[in-house]
Amino acid sequence: MHISTFATKLINRESLTGRNGLALFINSSRVYRIVTNSSAVLSSLAELYDSGILDIWGMPSRTGTDILISSQEEESILMSILSSTDRGKSDLMINSSSPNSGDNFLLKVIIPNVKKLLDQQDQHQYNHPPSRVKSSGGFLTWNEYHPLETITEWMENLAKFYPETTTLIKIGESWEGLPMHLMKISAPPSEKEHNSTQKSFQKRGVFIDATIHAREWVTTSVATWVIKELVTDSPSGQGLLDRYDFYIAPILNPDGYRHSWKLNRLWRKSRRSISNWLIACRGVDLNRNFGHEWGGQGASRSSCSSSYRGNAAFSEPETRAVKEWVEKMKGEVDWAAYFTLHSYGQKWMTPWGYTNTVLPRDYREMIRVARIGTRALRAVHGTEYEVGSSSDMLYLAAGGSDDWWTGVVGVTYSYTLELRDTGLWGFLLPSSQIQDTVEETWAGIAASLKAIPTRLV
Ligand SMILES: [Zn+2]
Repeated sequence: MHISTFATKLINRESLTGRNGLALFINSSRVYRIVTNSSAVLSSLAELYDSGILDIWGMPSRTGTDILISSQEEESILMSILSSTDRGKSDLMINSSSPNSGDNFLLKVIIPNVKKLLDQQDQHQYNHPPSRVKSSGGFLTWNEYHPLETITEWMENLAKFYPETTTLIKIGESWEGLPMHLMKISAPPSEKEHNSTQKSFQKRGVFIDATIHAREWVTTSVATWVIKELVTDSPSGQGLLDRYDFYIAPILNPDGYRHSWKLNRLWRKSRRSISNWLIACRGVDLNRNFGHEWGGQGASRSSCSSSYRGNAAFSEPETRAVKEWVEKMKGEVDWAAYFTLHSYGQKWMTPWGYTNTVLPRDYREMIRVARIGTRALRAVHGTEYEVGSSSDMLYLAAGGSDDWWTGVVGVTYSYTLELRDTGLWGFLLPSSQIQDTVEETWAGIAASLKAIPTRLV
């Protein structure tokens, strides 16, 4: 079957088939990993991804491309990919225990039963109506994932309980009108500072965001953990509030996050509706919509693709809210560092995402600090991270937030962290791993912040 035939059949599966169709699709899906050096296969994968036909869990890369395929489409899609290799169709073998291996092509099943994984998630809402979600009453836990309302309520309560150190800032509204929140955490000035007319040094700003991509739930757990550790003055963050003010957005894509709880656990983009007489797809990949070298490689023009870049840089209310707020704070906050939390892959990455032919000016310094971060992270539970620029380690992806923070805002220490794991669970990281993940990630971030040289004024 030719690729374009799939397109008509599969594009925007969700809106065509509705809730039951989607459930059916997920019930029979597996995740494959393709590892290949073949440029033909990689470009065939990139084409499938770009056109929105395949849900690739990350862009095609030589280190491995994970793709979600339902059993009904399995044979035809894999045939189509394999037909671009020299071996041709006769070589197709699909078996989790005996992958089709060769010099430059490996195909294996890494998640044989996606539905089973979804069911295993303790508090998973896929089969439960949202009304059964209990309110947190102001307390949050890190042994389960929490829906949007619980996290919003927790942040509102925190701002009430700790008025000296926290401020809840609404930076804008999502496409569906949900508030976008940023928690500012700032230590009140000490007696000494209060009395002295001249500060010894100025506090700098640290911006941390999570869940730009809806299905990457564990990133929100990390962001809320960081807020909790800082607000309760835990030893892990000791000294940091003397040097930095923190601005933390645990859910930058509230519409997508809500959708991932209500209907589709594996949703990635925002929820903007894009429709004309031909197509009716939803969502923009917000991490392809930021305005530094927007529209380059690795960002799709097709609105049905899961990496759809939008119709212009900052065309989306969510990315525009960040941009306008950061612009408003110009002169008020001296930004020291930016961390954007994603999953999965265990990678600590620097810009650039849009190109792999040039590196950022301060690349060596960025890597030095990143290595201090990953070393501290590994010391907690032994989790190994790779360090490098995102285009080198993963794939080209223009319009990412980290590129904008370095290229436009001018922040040297701008990092994308791909959290646990390396594909065993993928986006469906079990809640039993949340606690370890939040501890190690915060240890890494805290250590890297301590390694940034102090700027004297
Ligand atoms: Zn992501």
